Amino acid sequence: MHSITFPAFRFVASRLSPAGPKARLSILIFHRVLPEADPLFPRETTVETFDAQMRLLKSVFNILPLPEAATRLQAGTLPARAASITFDDGYADNLTHVLPILQKHGLHATFFIATSYLNGGRMFNDTVIESIRRSPHTQLDLSDLGLGIHDLGSNAAKAEAIGKILPQVKYLRLDVRETTVAELTARAGVDRLPDDLMMTTAQLKQLHAAGMEIGGHTHRHPILARLDHAEAQAEIAAGKVWLEETLGDRVRLFAYPNGKPGTDYLPEQANIVRTLGFDAAVSTQRGVSTTRSDMYQLRRFTPWDTNPTTYALRLVRNLTER
Ligand SMILES: [Zn+2]
Repeated sequence: MHSITFPAFRFVASRLSPAGPKARLSILIFHRVLPEADPLFPRETTVETFDAQMRLLKSVFNILPLPEAATRLQAGTLPARAASITFDDGYADNLTHVLPILQKHGLHATFFIATSYLNGGRMFNDTVIESIRRSPHTQLDLSDLGLGIHDLGSNAAKAEAIGKILPQVKYLRLDVRETTVAELTARAGVDRLPDDLMMTTAQLKQLHAAGMEIGGHTHRHPILARLDHAEAQAEIAAGKVWLEETLGDRVRLFAYPNGKPGTDYLPEQANIVRTLGFDAAVSTQRGVSTTRSDMYQLRRFTPWDTNPTTYALRLVRNLTER
């Protein structure tokens, strides 16, 4: 099947994404790659599916490091079927599980790091997920916090509770978000949470030494649209300065936390990113980027199928979205 299917995808992708000034750059987003399937989130990428996706991606697309792809997009010199791979947040599995697979396939990726969670920290979403996963209770009452009452009686119920709570907690002010999540952990009856989900400084340095690009993703991963100009600038700058001092290298690229234009960051905040000396930035707006795209709001896309044919179809369909 593959010998028929992949050349067909390549052919269609070449028509939609030709070389030169009419090129369309696909940028893929990933977060975590797990050693095995998570019972709460069976669709989360595993080592096995990521390996298969990279093999397929390589057979259809020309994978370029994102800094090079961004430069060549502007210059109108991209190859046909150009794509770049990105990872957000700074999970430890990016070093332990992702890097070996990228190296096996000879691929490059850019890793956007929220610096305050490295070295034993935990993103708020993981605190919610891990508290609910580990809760011995069958119900979680957060109604006085405006977050409802949730059944925790099964993995499916826990996944549903997480799916309802996260989108609400995400948009709380940073300090309120922290106290709310701490209260959720206490009510879940959980006193120990994992502290090794994110990379350590040593792991980050290893990823960088392996030739991977390290990009900025703010310090504390706030919703930038909820911050004023000075606060947004401070968050973006703090992450960049920390990474540059730690790695001894210039940090050229930035990814907006959560990344939806208008909702998660304001278009005018792209000017802050430019002023701070980044060369380009990526959002989570679906679709592809062209020579006419704003270099500080490049689009990204998450294909999520485990079936290789459907996965390739989604990638090709994404090429039609602009
Ligand atoms: Zn993120």
